[in-house]
Amino acid sequence: MISISLQQKKCIGCNYCAEIAPELFRMSKKDGKSVLLHATHKGDYQNLKTNDFFREDALKCKEVCPVKIIKVHDCKS
Ligand code: SF4
Repeated sequence: MISISLQQKKCIGCNYCAEIAPELFRMSKKDGKSVLLHATHKGDYQNLKTNDFFREDALKCKEVCPVKIIKVHDCKS
């Protein structure tokens, strides 16, 4: 399992994460910021625990995010 987190407030709306991993992120039509899909915590600090299948894409998003607000950690189920 991995844990993905997004500090939404600092998102600059570049759209990179939603392009790389549309299964994980989409852009909000309301404020133009990224939304972590299926996150258990909504709001500024969004968090999602999901399986390893999404690890590679999540790490790519973490790398390309210009403001470094996407974090990816290993976690136990
Ligand atoms: S890559 Fe970072 S700054 Fe760009 S939309 Fe995604 S979370 Fe926001």
